[in-house]
Amino acid sequence: MMAINKKTELRFVKTGSVPSREDYLYMGGDPSVVHQGVVPLFYMRTDDGVVLIDSSFDLKDAEVLGIAGEVMREEAEDPIGALSQVGIQPSDVSHLILTHAHFDHVGFVDAFPRAVIYIHRKELEWVMDLPSWAIGYGEFSSRKLNRVYDQLRVIDTDFYEVLPGIMVHYVGGHAPGCMVVQVETNTGTVCLCGDNCFIYKNIEEQLPIGLYVDLYEVMAFIKRLPTMGDILLPGHDPEMYTRYPDGVIR
Ligand SMILES: [Zn+2]
Repeated sequence: MMAINKKTELRFVKTGSVPSREDYLYMGGDPSVVHQGVVPLFYMRTDDGVVLIDSSFDLKDAEVLGIAGEVMREEAEDPIGALSQVGIQPSDVSHLILTHAHFDHVGFVDAFPRAVIYIHRKELEWVMDLPSWAIGYGEFSSRKLNRVYDQLRVIDTDFYEVLPGIMVHYVGGHAPGCMVVQVETNTGTVCLCGDNCFIYKNIEEQLPIGLYVDLYEVMAFIKRLPTMGDILLPGHDPEMYTRYPDGVIR
């Protein structure tokens, strides 16, 4: 396995936005207020191919979930098209890390034929035997993961090094098999908190999200935040686009 290129940067393309009730975003939020959460698609170019973190949402899945009118995507935000705009073709993707399997993370999971796809065992088992009440999943979740079954690398441990300098940590909390991703970049350690911190408010005020399967795990992760990296990134905060207007995390 080759080392991550020292010049490698963590970047993202924009792939639209999804709605979230404010009380889901943080404890004490107003359930009658809905915010749009951005869906950045993070990628890294490494000596070992392109690494993607999650795969955005598919408009068809939003239709199945009955929220087609609430998700938003401009034409230029089609995930495959947006990646192509930065010179990445689906076959260039060698690794795809799934933080969890909600619809806005597995939308294009089956679009990268050469990728090894990383998912935590607890998330895979959950999706394959999904309770009807589970929010954010659908029948499409297991169908898509079944389609890429031969590409899956199932993580059984609390910590796993995908490539040198790219680590996943099992957290749980927001979903049964949630993982966060830690990346050693040339500007420091970046932690992608996934949806265990939807927005900066969760990170900066140590305020738990309000949509979870295990609140204790959400809180345990918040306690760990100071040790997780120099730059902590939330899952869906539009503020990221203001802080990193060129899509480069630095
Ligand atoms: Zn999400």
